[in-house]
Amino acid sequence: MSALTLINARLGAEAQALQTLYVQDGRFVSAPSAGAEILDLQGKLLLPGLVETHIHLDKACIMQRCQLSEGTLAEAIAQTRSAKADFTEADVYQRGAQVLEKAITQGTTHMRTHVEIDPQIGLTGFNAVRRLQADYAWAISLEICVFPQEGLLNNPGTEALLCEALAMGAEVLGGCPYTDADPDAQIRRLFELAVAFDSDLDFHLDFDLNPEGMTIGEVIRCTHQHGWAGRVTIGHVTKLSTLPRDTLLEVAASLAEAGVQVTCLPSTDLFLTGREHFHNRPRGLAPLQHLHACGVTCSLSTNNIGNPFTPYGDASLVRQANLFANVSQLATEAELLRCLSWVSSESARLLRLPDYGLTPGCRADFIVFDAPSPAAVVAEISPPLMGYKAGRKTFERAQARLLKP
Ligand SMILES: [Zn+2]
Repeated sequence: MSALTLINARLGAEAQALQTLYVQDGRFVSAPSAGAEILDLQGKLLLPGLVETHIHLDKACIMQRCQLSEGTLAEAIAQTRSAKADFTEADVYQRGAQVLEKAITQGTTHMRTHVEIDPQIGLTGFNAVRRLQADYAWAISLEICVFPQEGLLNNPGTEALLCEALAMGAEVLGGCPYTDADPDAQIRRLFELAVAFDSDLDFHLDFDLNPEGMTIGEVIRCTHQHGWAGRVTIGHVTKLSTLPRDTLLEVAASLAEAGVQVTCLPSTDLFLTGREHFHNRPRGLAPLQHLHACGVTCSLSTNNIGNPFTPYGDASLVRQANLFANVSQLATEAELLRCLSWVSSESARLLRLPDYGLTPGCRADFIVFDAPSPAAVVAEISPPLMGYKAGRKTFERAQARLLKP
Protein backbone atom coordinates (compact mmCIF):
# COMPACT_ATOMS: atom_id res chain seq x y z
CA MET A 1 0.00 0.00 0.00
CA SER A 2 0.98 3.60 -0.45
CA ALA A 3 2.65 5.86 2.10
CA LEU A 4 1.82 9.45 2.92
CA THR A 5 3.62 12.23 4.79
CA LEU A 6 1.51 15.09 6.16
CA ILE A 7 3.49 18.28 6.66
CA ASN A 8 2.50 21.58 8.33
CA ALA A 9 -0.51 20.03 10.08
CA ARG A 10 -1.97 21.95 13.04
CA LEU A 11 -3.39 19.64 15.72
CA GLY A 12 -4.62 22.32 18.15
CA ALA A 13 -5.08 26.02 18.64
CA GLU A 14 -1.28 26.63 18.67
CA ALA A 15 -0.36 27.79 15.17
CA GLN A 16 3.38 27.70 15.94
CA ALA A 17 3.37 23.98 16.67
CA LEU A 18 2.97 22.64 13.14
CA GLN A 19 3.47 18.90 12.96
CA THR A 20 4.56 16.24 10.51
CA LEU A 21 2.69 12.90 10.55
CA TYR A 22 3.50 9.70 8.70
CA VAL A 23 1.09 7.15 7.27
CA GLN A 24 1.87 3.71 5.96
CA ASP A 25 -0.43 0.82 5.05
CA GLY A 26 -3.46 2.70 6.36
CA ARG A 27 -2.05 3.56 9.79
CA PHE A 28 -0.07 6.35 11.41
CA VAL A 29 3.55 5.36 11.90
CA SER A 30 6.43 7.04 13.75
CA ALA A 31 8.91 7.41 10.88
CA PRO A 32 8.81 8.44 7.22
CA SER A 33 8.57 5.80 4.48
CA ALA A 34 10.63 5.89 1.31
CA GLY A 35 8.69 7.26 -1.65
CA ALA A 36 5.85 8.64 0.47
CA GLU A 37 3.49 11.11 -1.17
CA ILE A 38 3.75 14.55 0.52
CA LEU A 39 0.59 16.42 1.53
CA ASP A 40 1.27 20.02 2.65
CA LEU A 41 -1.62 21.10 4.90
CA GLN A 42 -0.31 24.69 5.09
CA GLY A 43 -1.26 25.10 8.74
CA LYS A 44 -4.77 23.75 8.37
CA LEU A 45 -6.34 21.94 11.32
CA LEU A 46 -6.14 18.13 11.35
CA LEU A 47 -8.56 16.09 13.48
CA PRO A 48 -9.29 12.37 13.68
CA GLY A 49 -12.42 11.30 11.75
CA LEU A 50 -15.77 11.83 13.49
CA VAL A 51 -17.63 8.93 15.10
CA GLU A 52 -21.41 8.56 14.84
CA THR A 53 -22.64 6.22 17.59
CA HIS A 54 -26.38 6.21 16.84
CA ILE A 55 -28.14 6.71 13.51
CA HIS A 56 -31.01 5.00 11.66
CA LEU A 57 -30.11 4.55 7.99
CA ASP A 58 -33.06 2.22 7.29
CA LYS A 59 -35.78 4.79 8.03
CA ALA A 60 -34.00 7.95 6.79
CA CYS A 61 -35.37 10.27 4.09
CA ILE A 62 -39.05 9.23 4.20
CA MET A 63 -40.65 12.57 5.11
CA GLN A 64 -42.49 12.81 1.79
CA ARG A 65 -44.19 9.47 2.57
CA CYS A 66 -45.46 10.64 5.99
CA GLN A 67 -48.04 13.11 7.27
CA LEU A 68 -47.28 14.85 10.55
CA SER A 69 -50.08 16.45 12.54
CA GLU A 70 -49.12 16.04 16.23
CA GLY A 71 -45.33 15.69 16.13
CA THR A 72 -45.38 13.20 19.00
CA LEU A 73 -43.26 10.09 19.54
CA ALA A 74 -46.36 7.88 19.19
CA GLU A 75 -47.19 9.51 15.83
CA ALA A 76 -43.57 9.15 14.66
CA ILE A 77 -43.59 5.43 15.46
CA ALA A 78 -47.02 4.91 13.82
CA GLN A 79 -46.16 6.90 10.67
CA THR A 80 -42.84 5.11 10.29
CA ARG A 81 -44.56 1.77 10.81
CA SER A 82 -46.92 2.38 7.89
CA ALA A 83 -44.08 3.67 5.66
CA LYS A 84 -42.08 0.57 6.62
CA ALA A 85 -44.76 -1.66 5.08
CA ASP A 86 -43.52 -0.52 1.64
CA PHE A 87 -39.76 -0.73 2.34
CA THR A 88 -37.84 -2.97 -0.04
CA GLU A 89 -34.16 -3.86 0.12
CA ALA A 90 -33.40 -1.62 -2.88
CA ASP A 91 -35.33 1.27 -1.30
CA VAL A 92 -33.53 0.99 2.08
CA TYR A 93 -30.19 0.70 0.26
CA GLN A 94 -30.81 3.81 -1.84
CA ARG A 95 -31.94 6.01 1.10
CA GLY A 96 -29.16 4.66 3.34
CA ALA A 97 -26.56 5.40 0.66
CA GLN A 98 -27.84 8.98 0.43
CA VAL A 99 -27.23 9.51 4.17
CA LEU A 100 -23.89 7.68 4.17
CA GLU A 101 -22.58 9.86 1.35
CA LYS A 102 -23.62 12.98 3.26
CA ALA A 103 -22.00 11.67 6.46
CA ILE A 104 -18.74 10.89 4.66
CA THR A 105 -18.47 14.44 3.31
CA GLN A 106 -19.22 15.78 6.82
CA GLY A 107 -16.14 13.96 8.13
CA THR A 108 -17.65 10.82 9.69
CA THR A 109 -15.34 7.80 9.36
CA HIS A 110 -17.06 5.37 11.75
CA MET A 111 -20.76 4.81 12.39
CA ARG A 112 -22.98 2.54 14.47
CA THR A 113 -26.35 2.23 12.76
CA HIS A 114 -29.52 0.90 14.37
CA VAL A 115 -31.59 -1.40 12.16
CA GLU A 116 -35.20 -2.37 12.90
CA ILE A 117 -36.02 -6.06 13.08
CA ASP A 118 -39.60 -7.32 13.45
CA PRO A 119 -41.85 -9.88 11.74
CA GLN A 120 -43.20 -7.23 9.33
CA ILE A 121 -39.88 -5.98 7.90
CA GLY A 122 -38.03 -9.24 8.65
CA LEU A 123 -34.36 -8.99 7.64
CA THR A 124 -35.03 -6.70 4.63
CA GLY A 125 -33.52 -3.59 6.25
CA PHE A 126 -30.67 -5.61 7.76
CA ASN A 127 -29.74 -7.13 4.39
CA ALA A 128 -29.74 -3.71 2.72
CA VAL A 129 -27.53 -2.18 5.43
CA ARG A 130 -25.14 -5.14 5.24
CA ARG A 131 -24.64 -4.34 1.55
CA LEU A 132 -24.05 -0.67 2.42
CA GLN A 133 -21.49 -1.80 5.01
CA ALA A 134 -19.51 -3.63 2.33
CA ASP A 135 -19.98 -1.09 -0.48
CA TYR A 136 -18.92 1.97 1.57
CA ALA A 137 -16.09 0.34 3.57
CA TRP A 138 -13.62 2.41 1.50
CA ALA A 139 -14.83 5.55 3.30
CA ILE A 140 -16.61 4.60 6.52
CA SER A 141 -16.61 1.69 8.99
CA LEU A 142 -20.22 0.73 9.61
CA GLU A 143 -21.29 -1.42 12.56
CA ILE A 144 -24.84 -2.72 12.74
CA CYS A 145 -27.00 -2.72 15.86
CA VAL A 146 -30.20 -4.75 15.37
CA PHE A 147 -33.11 -3.83 17.63
CA PRO A 148 -36.85 -4.45 18.20
CA GLN A 149 -38.46 -1.03 17.52
CA GLU A 150 -41.94 -2.63 17.61
CA GLY A 151 -41.38 -4.47 20.90
CA LEU A 152 -39.75 -7.77 21.84
CA LEU A 153 -41.81 -9.71 24.39
CA ASN A 154 -45.03 -8.17 23.00
CA ASN A 155 -44.16 -9.11 19.43
CA PRO A 156 -43.81 -12.87 18.83
CA GLY A 157 -41.28 -13.84 16.17
CA THR A 158 -39.03 -10.82 16.80
CA GLU A 159 -36.52 -12.58 19.05
CA ALA A 160 -35.86 -15.37 16.52
CA LEU A 161 -35.20 -12.76 13.81
CA LEU A 162 -32.83 -10.80 16.08
CA CYS A 163 -30.93 -14.01 16.79
CA GLU A 164 -30.76 -14.77 13.06
CA ALA A 165 -29.30 -11.31 12.36
CA LEU A 166 -26.77 -11.68 15.20
CA ALA A 167 -25.77 -15.10 13.86
CA MET A 168 -25.31 -13.51 10.41
CA GLY A 169 -22.86 -11.00 11.85
CA ALA A 170 -24.78 -8.02 13.30
CA GLU A 171 -22.23 -6.54 15.69
CA VAL A 172 -24.49 -5.07 18.40
CA LEU A 173 -27.88 -5.80 20.00
CA GLY A 174 -30.24 -2.90 20.67
CA GLY A 175 -33.35 -2.47 22.76
CA CYS A 176 -36.44 -0.31 23.07
CA PRO A 177 -37.87 -1.27 26.47
CA TYR A 178 -40.68 1.34 26.46
CA THR A 179 -42.36 -0.51 23.56
CA ASP A 180 -43.11 -3.56 25.76
CA ALA A 181 -45.73 -3.85 28.52
CA ASP A 182 -42.94 -4.91 30.89
CA PRO A 183 -39.86 -2.80 30.01
CA ASP A 184 -37.67 -4.36 32.72
CA ALA A 185 -38.42 -7.84 31.33
CA GLN A 186 -37.24 -6.73 27.85
CA ILE A 187 -34.02 -5.40 29.41
CA ARG A 188 -33.40 -8.70 31.21
CA ARG A 189 -34.07 -10.79 28.08
CA LEU A 190 -31.77 -8.62 25.92
CA PHE A 191 -28.93 -9.01 28.43
CA GLU A 192 -29.34 -12.82 28.23
CA LEU A 193 -29.18 -12.68 24.43
CA ALA A 194 -26.19 -10.28 24.49
CA VAL A 195 -24.27 -12.67 26.71
CA ALA A 196 -25.21 -15.65 24.48
CA PHE A 197 -23.95 -13.82 21.35
CA ASP A 198 -21.11 -11.91 23.09
CA SER A 199 -22.63 -8.61 21.83
CA ASP A 200 -22.50 -5.10 23.20
CA LEU A 201 -25.91 -3.56 24.06
CA ASP A 202 -27.36 -0.21 22.99
CA PHE A 203 -30.81 0.76 24.31
CA HIS A 204 -33.32 3.44 23.31
CA LEU A 205 -34.05 3.72 26.98
CA ASP A 206 -36.68 6.33 27.74
CA PHE A 207 -38.13 9.17 25.79
CA ASP A 208 -40.33 11.42 27.93
CA LEU A 209 -40.05 14.07 30.62
CA ASN A 210 -41.80 12.22 33.44
CA PRO A 211 -39.26 11.54 36.20
CA GLU A 212 -41.33 8.50 37.26
CA GLY A 213 -40.81 5.05 35.75
CA MET A 214 -37.07 5.17 35.07
CA THR A 215 -35.60 1.86 33.87
CA ILE A 216 -31.96 2.87 34.39
CA GLY A 217 -31.89 0.89 37.64
CA GLU A 218 -32.62 -2.38 35.83
CA VAL A 219 -29.93 -1.67 33.20
CA ILE A 220 -27.37 -0.98 35.94
CA ARG A 221 -28.40 -4.10 37.87
CA CYS A 222 -28.11 -6.35 34.78
CA THR A 223 -24.76 -4.76 33.78
CA HIS A 224 -23.35 -5.70 37.19
CA GLN A 225 -24.96 -9.16 37.12
CA HIS A 226 -23.52 -10.12 33.73
CA GLY A 227 -20.18 -8.31 34.05
CA TRP A 228 -21.00 -6.18 30.97
CA ALA A 229 -19.27 -2.93 32.13
CA GLY A 230 -18.23 -0.69 29.23
CA ARG A 231 -20.41 -2.70 26.82
CA VAL A 232 -23.79 -1.08 27.55
CA THR A 233 -25.07 2.23 26.17
CA ILE A 234 -28.37 3.95 26.87
CA GLY A 235 -29.67 6.51 24.37
CA HIS A 236 -32.07 9.46 24.69
CA VAL A 237 -32.66 8.97 28.47
CA THR A 238 -34.50 12.29 28.41
CA LYS A 239 -35.86 11.58 31.91
CA LEU A 240 -32.36 12.46 33.18
CA SER A 241 -33.07 16.08 32.22
CA THR A 242 -35.92 16.21 34.77
CA LEU A 243 -33.82 15.26 37.81
CA PRO A 244 -32.71 17.78 40.42
CA ARG A 245 -28.95 18.09 40.88
CA ASP A 246 -28.50 15.76 43.87
CA THR A 247 -30.57 12.94 42.35
CA LEU A 248 -28.84 13.35 38.99
CA LEU A 249 -25.40 13.14 40.58
CA GLU A 250 -26.40 9.93 42.41
CA VAL A 251 -27.66 8.34 39.18
CA ALA A 252 -24.53 9.53 37.33
CA ALA A 253 -22.26 7.97 39.97
CA SER A 254 -24.10 4.62 39.64
CA LEU A 255 -23.85 4.76 35.82
CA ALA A 256 -20.11 5.49 35.99
CA GLU A 257 -19.54 2.74 38.55
CA ALA A 258 -21.48 0.19 36.47
CA GLY A 259 -19.78 1.19 33.19
CA VAL A 260 -23.08 2.18 31.53
CA GLN A 261 -22.60 4.86 28.82
CA VAL A 262 -25.01 7.57 27.65
CA THR A 263 -25.85 8.94 24.19
CA CYS A 264 -27.81 12.15 23.67
CA LEU A 265 -29.60 12.71 20.35
CA PRO A 266 -30.15 16.49 20.50
CA SER A 267 -32.03 17.05 17.27
CA THR A 268 -34.63 14.31 17.89
CA ASP A 269 -34.96 14.93 21.61
CA LEU A 270 -35.59 18.65 21.04
CA PHE A 271 -38.11 17.94 18.28
CA LEU A 272 -40.17 15.31 20.10
CA THR A 273 -40.16 16.12 23.81
CA GLY A 274 -41.84 18.88 25.82
CA ARG A 275 -44.74 19.40 23.41
CA GLU A 276 -47.23 19.21 26.27
CA HIS A 277 -45.92 22.61 27.42
CA PHE A 278 -47.24 25.67 25.58
CA HIS A 279 -44.97 28.03 27.52
CA ASN A 280 -41.71 27.53 29.44
CA ARG A 281 -41.07 24.50 27.27
CA PRO A 282 -38.28 22.32 28.74
CA ARG A 283 -35.24 21.39 26.66
CA GLY A 284 -35.23 17.69 27.51
CA LEU A 285 -31.60 16.82 26.73
CA ALA A 286 -29.66 14.33 28.86
CA PRO A 287 -27.14 16.56 30.71
CA LEU A 288 -23.93 15.04 29.34
CA GLN A 289 -21.76 17.75 30.91
CA HIS A 290 -22.75 16.62 34.43
CA LEU A 291 -22.66 12.91 33.57
CA HIS A 292 -19.15 13.33 32.12
CA ALA A 293 -17.99 15.15 35.25
CA CYS A 294 -19.06 12.09 37.25
CA GLY A 295 -17.05 9.75 35.00
CA VAL A 296 -19.75 8.54 32.57
CA THR A 297 -18.61 7.90 28.97
CA CYS A 298 -20.92 9.92 26.70
CA SER A 299 -21.60 10.63 23.04
CA LEU A 300 -23.73 12.92 20.88
CA SER A 301 -25.29 11.59 17.72
CA THR A 302 -27.65 12.29 14.84
CA ASN A 303 -30.29 9.54 15.32
CA ASN A 304 -32.60 10.38 12.42
CA ILE A 305 -32.60 12.37 9.21
CA GLY A 306 -35.70 13.33 7.23
CA ASN A 307 -38.35 11.30 9.04
CA PRO A 308 -41.14 11.87 11.60
CA PHE A 309 -38.65 11.50 14.49
CA THR A 310 -36.44 14.28 13.05
CA PRO A 311 -37.52 16.04 9.85
CA TYR A 312 -34.11 17.76 9.53
CA GLY A 313 -30.50 16.85 9.07
CA ASP A 314 -27.38 17.04 6.95
CA ALA A 315 -25.51 14.23 8.78
CA SER A 316 -23.05 16.75 10.27
CA LEU A 317 -21.89 15.62 13.71
CA VAL A 318 -20.26 19.01 14.20
CA ARG A 319 -23.76 20.52 13.87
CA GLN A 320 -25.05 18.16 16.60
CA ALA A 321 -22.13 19.20 18.85
CA ASN A 322 -22.99 22.86 18.20
CA LEU A 323 -26.70 22.25 18.84
CA PHE A 324 -25.97 20.53 22.17
CA ALA A 325 -23.56 23.31 23.18
CA ASN A 326 -26.14 25.97 22.31
CA VAL A 327 -29.09 24.35 24.08
CA SER A 328 -26.97 23.37 27.10
CA GLN A 329 -25.39 26.84 27.30
CA LEU A 330 -21.80 25.57 26.96
CA ALA A 331 -19.44 28.17 25.55
CA THR A 332 -15.91 28.18 26.99
CA GLU A 333 -13.08 26.65 24.97
CA ALA A 334 -12.94 23.68 27.35
CA GLU A 335 -16.71 23.14 27.05
CA LEU A 336 -16.68 23.33 23.25
CA LEU A 337 -13.77 20.88 23.15
CA ARG A 338 -15.77 18.55 25.37
CA CYS A 339 -18.70 18.75 22.92
CA LEU A 340 -16.30 17.91 20.08
CA SER A 341 -15.00 14.90 22.04
CA TRP A 342 -18.58 13.57 22.24
CA VAL A 343 -18.58 13.18 18.45
CA SER A 344 -14.96 11.99 18.28
CA SER A 345 -12.65 10.63 21.00
CA GLU A 346 -15.33 9.93 23.64
CA SER A 347 -17.59 8.35 20.97
CA ALA A 348 -14.67 6.12 19.98
CA ARG A 349 -14.24 5.13 23.63
CA LEU A 350 -17.99 4.39 23.87
CA LEU A 351 -17.80 2.12 20.80
CA ARG A 352 -14.57 0.55 22.11
CA LEU A 353 -12.57 1.45 19.00
CA PRO A 354 -9.02 0.36 19.86
CA ASP A 355 -7.10 2.25 17.17
CA TYR A 356 -8.66 5.72 17.16
CA GLY A 357 -6.53 8.89 17.13
CA LEU A 358 -3.56 10.49 15.44
CA THR A 359 -0.71 8.64 17.19
CA PRO A 360 1.45 5.85 15.69
CA GLY A 361 -0.54 2.63 15.42
CA CYS A 362 -3.90 4.37 15.02
CA ARG A 363 -5.86 3.93 11.83
CA ALA A 364 -5.21 6.89 9.50
CA ASP A 365 -8.81 8.18 9.46
CA PHE A 366 -8.59 11.98 9.56
CA ILE A 367 -10.23 15.19 8.41
CA VAL A 368 -8.95 18.68 7.65
CA PHE A 369 -10.57 22.02 8.54
CA ASP A 370 -9.88 25.65 7.75
CA ALA A 371 -10.54 26.74 11.36
CA PRO A 372 -8.41 28.50 13.98
CA SER A 373 -8.96 25.81 16.64
CA PRO A 374 -10.92 22.63 17.40
CA ALA A 375 -13.28 24.67 19.61
CA ALA A 376 -13.93 27.02 16.69
CA VAL A 377 -14.98 24.05 14.53
CA VAL A 378 -17.90 23.54 16.98
CA ALA A 379 -18.65 27.25 17.47
CA GLU A 380 -18.74 27.95 13.72
CA ILE A 381 -19.98 24.56 12.44
CA SER A 382 -16.99 24.43 10.09
CA PRO A 383 -17.32 22.02 7.16
CA PRO A 384 -14.32 19.72 6.62
CA LEU A 385 -12.27 20.45 3.49
CA MET A 386 -11.17 16.85 2.95
CA GLY A 387 -11.10 13.47 4.61
CA TYR A 388 -9.07 10.27 4.57
CA LYS A 389 -9.99 6.70 5.45
CA ALA A 390 -7.11 4.34 6.23
CA GLY A 391 -4.73 6.79 4.54
CA ARG A 392 -6.74 7.14 1.33
CA LYS A 393 -8.50 10.37 0.38
CA THR A 394 -12.27 9.89 0.33
CA PHE A 395 -13.67 13.38 -0.37
CA GLU A 396 -12.81 17.04 -0.81
CA ARG A 397 -14.80 20.24 -0.61
CA ALA A 398 -13.92 23.46 -2.38
CA GLN A 399 -13.50 26.48 -0.12
CA ALA A 400 -16.02 29.27 -0.69
CA ARG A 401 -14.49 32.30 -2.39
CA LEU A 402 -15.78 35.88 -2.39
CA LEU A 403 -15.99 37.53 -5.82
CA LYS A 404 -15.52 41.20 -4.89
CA PRO A 405 -16.28 43.72 -7.65
ZN1 LIG B 1 -32.50 5.88 17.69
